[in-house]
Amino acid sequence: MTRLTVRNLTKSFGKLEVIRGIDLDVADGEFVVFVGPSGCGKSTLLRMISGLETISGGELWIGDRKVNEVQAAKRGLAMVFQSYALYPHLTVRQNMGFGLKVRKESVDEIERRVNEAARTLQLDKLLDRYPRELSGGQRQRVAIGRAIVGDPQVFLFDEPLSNLDAELRVHMRAEIAALHRRLGNTTIYVTHDQIEAMTLADRIVVLRDGRIEQVGTPKELYARPDNVFVAQFIGSPK
Ligand code: ADP
Ligand code: MG
Repeated sequence: MTRLTVRNLTKSFGKLEVIRGIDLDVADGEFVVFVGPSGCGKSTLLRMISGLETISGGELWIGDRKVNEVQAAKRGLAMVFQSYALYPHLTVRQNMGFGLKVRKESVDEIERRVNEAARTLQLDKLLDRYPRELSGGQRQRVAIGRAIVGDPQVFLFDEPLSNLDAELRVHMRAEIAALHRRLGNTTIYVTHDQIEAMTLADRIVVLRDGRIEQVGTPKELYARPDNVFVAQFIGSPK
């Protein structure tokens, strides 16, 4: 089944057209990675999918529902950002349960889901701490935990590891891969890091200047890049 359908999607900020006709189908459970140079429109595209940014033209479907006009909270998606965006005055438990509380889930249900997510991410022992008492990697796990408690149909990640040091990045990359194997949620993941892209992706989408330059599996892009631009991003010898 196709989970996400993008048809001729465009976005302009005033006269500046930053997304210039994107077509993409993402299958249910697929892990798709967006790569491309700074300013090519990766975050804007992700924010349009999430509903944080309006759509100028084209269509966006989640499953069989057209969501162009559907507000972010009602799209069944969860987004994890590069800056962890945790509430400093709330504990880990409260941070993770916040969205569910807003959705007016019962106290018992919130407790159950937060505990389950905490087990999955090995945050059980940290639930009563505040963000300032956590390491960078732990904070990022809380941000991911906050996303998974809502049981989203689709995960959106915007460079979630780019603020971490190299060692932690490798560790968190493996955790994200494991999480995906376990939960199987459709995932769209933006990164600058070609190793992240190559190891995590079922398919990689190479963006350039608001357009798709090439789409393929890591192997396909590595072995048969369409041009030097793609080869550079994938790190293949062409
Ligand atoms: P990336 O994530 O690939 O680095 P972005 O999606 O953040 O790229 O940005 C794409 C282009 O859109 C850039 O030229 C950026 O300056 C521009 N842009 C992004 N957001 C806005 C905005 N709110 N208003 C005006 N221009 C924007
Ligand atoms: Mg960006």
